Amino acid sequence: MTTSADNDHKPSNFLRQIIENDLAQATYASRRWAGSPGDAAHHAAGQSDPAKIRTRFPPEPNGYLHVGHAKSICLNFGLARDYGGVCHMRFDDTNPEKEDTEYVNSILDAVQWLGFGWDANGTSHLYQASDYFDFMYRAAEYLIESGHAYVDEQTPEQMRANRGDFGKPGVDSPFRSRTPAENLTRFRQMRDGQLPDGAAVLRAKIDMASPNINLRDPAIYRIRRATHHNTGDAWCIYPMYTFAHPIEDALEQITHSICTLEFEDQRPFYDWLMARLIEGGLLPSPPPKQYEFARLNLTYVITSKRKLAQLVNEHKVNGWDDPRMPTIVGLRRRGYTPESIQLFAERIGVTKSDSWIDYSTLEGCLREDLENKAHRGMAVLDPVKLVLTNWAEVFGSESYTEDCHAAVLPHHGDDQPEPAQRHFKIGHAVWIEREDFAEVPPKGYKRLFPGNVVRLKAGYVIECTGCAKDANGQVTEVHAKVIPNTKSGTAGADSVKAKAAITWVSVADGVSAQVRLYDRLFTEAQPDAGGKDFLASLNPNSLKVASAFVEPSLAAAQPDQKFQFERHGYFVADRVDHVPFATPVFNKVTGLRDTWGK
Ligand code: ATP
Ligand code: MG
Repeated sequence: MTTSADNDHKPSNFLRQIIENDLAQATYASRRWAGSPGDAAHHAAGQSDPAKIRTRFPPEPNGYLHVGHAKSICLNFGLARDYGGVCHMRFDDTNPEKEDTEYVNSILDAVQWLGFGWDANGTSHLYQASDYFDFMYRAAEYLIESGHAYVDEQTPEQMRANRGDFGKPGVDSPFRSRTPAENLTRFRQMRDGQLPDGAAVLRAKIDMASPNINLRDPAIYRIRRATHHNTGDAWCIYPMYTFAHPIEDALEQITHSICTLEFEDQRPFYDWLMARLIEGGLLPSPPPKQYEFARLNLTYVITSKRKLAQLVNEHKVNGWDDPRMPTIVGLRRRGYTPESIQLFAERIGVTKSDSWIDYSTLEGCLREDLENKAHRGMAVLDPVKLVLTNWAEVFGSESYTEDCHAAVLPHHGDDQPEPAQRHFKIGHAVWIEREDFAEVPPKGYKRLFPGNVVRLKAGYVIECTGCAKDANGQVTEVHAKVIPNTKSGTAGADSVKAKAAITWVSVADGVSAQVRLYDRLFTEAQPDAGGKDFLASLNPNSLKVASAFVEPSLAAAQPDQKFQFERHGYFVADRVDHVPFATPVFNKVTGLRDTWGK
């Protein structure tokens, strides 16, 4: 657990200020916690709550989580961690139609992978809202009995017309004046399956003239014959989200219920409902409070589960974990680390106004995290063979090879121990990047061209002599002479001045590998803004596959291991397809610098 001293180093934000203020005022100090969610009586019998605050992360299990959810996870779990609280992992599964256990498992994985958990004070705080259906039903009956809810049997069209709009107050339903006894009978008939789907709804009785349309008698229960993934066919009526969510928070003794801005207009109903159910003795006091923050919008990225599902279902990408997807499984497969995503969440902070975050901010956090962690290695992504024509003459035989080595991680200062080394061989032929040779060098070109002297990084200095070409004029081989006694790390290393150092992989021990080069999935920065058809701006070049050669230390990578391929950027051994040595497969994570704007 972090101390308040640690918190002093974190940038503050309006939520931190609210929490710090609540802690200073002891707003929630009187709360009790019975060890599990429950009503007022349940918690009254419990202990003084060991958690100073309670937050929750409440996804609907109807898809895979994306980078926007990651912001919410880091926020809710992070605040609880920083302030001696607990964050509940709650499935908001009150809507029977779209939910699935496949999603439940993927969500739990994603939260844990990001570095968070829900075990605290000896309890697993993993909950599902559908476990509260009995209480929600009871709360609905209480509202009916106390004159705060009624069964409305207008048609959906009538209901819509009578709701009014911003300029026009609503009109009372003819069913609004039913007695509590009539309403109770009718509501029980709804529950017992005596009315068809859509024939009636239970509505809170508040104010049809309220300037806030959400307070014009919002629907709180509807009839829907659907099998629920947790409760099966036990219910044919289901609570509406706006009714269910505040109750879920209260049963779990949540103190700070943090949601995105679109729920701002729902807050008055949230508070109204809490006040009624506390009045009736059903829920403990003080009630949870809702706070809204701006959702994450990231350029070149879509953060809507529905639209991401469309990309998967229409095979625009290869599944939820396609490395181009902004899902947490996609980011993970792409090579993002939990630390980089946490850093990103911290860096973008929380605000109360919508804005777009540049994708390069996310990439920058990853580079920062990988810079000191990712092992270095050489890979040639667009290979052409370089033959050292005097090799046999200098070393006695064409098949002779010599060991070379280079640091696994960059050396940080003289006080540090010698860094670990990776080993590879140099021989009479090596692979180099096609772009590292020019028969006729452009102005300022420092790499291989006839007569120029360069170093094969961590190997020998060589002098280019020419090339061989095929009938089409395509270079098939580059030729050079090795200059004896110039090997890196030997006494003669500096005896000949090289104009450049180029990366290479030996033909003798290089391993062929597939390298997947990813680019942004969309060509437009705001692919779905203003209801635009995001499929129209899919980038046709978002994936290119290269046949590369990699040095042995890279071929030996474990799946998920990250590297910096010298000069090319960051790469990860694909967690699905990579098999060490046998079939090395790497995904490009990101380049070395921000090239997005260029
Ligand atoms: P989607 O529209 O993609 O389905 P959602 O908001 O409906 O997203 P939920 O499963 O209901 O998805 O969300 C769980 C939590 O994640 C909520 O508290 C929600 O506010 C938060 N969340 C979802 N998207 C974002 C986002 N882009 N930025 C920040 N928080 C988000
Ligand atoms: Mg939702």
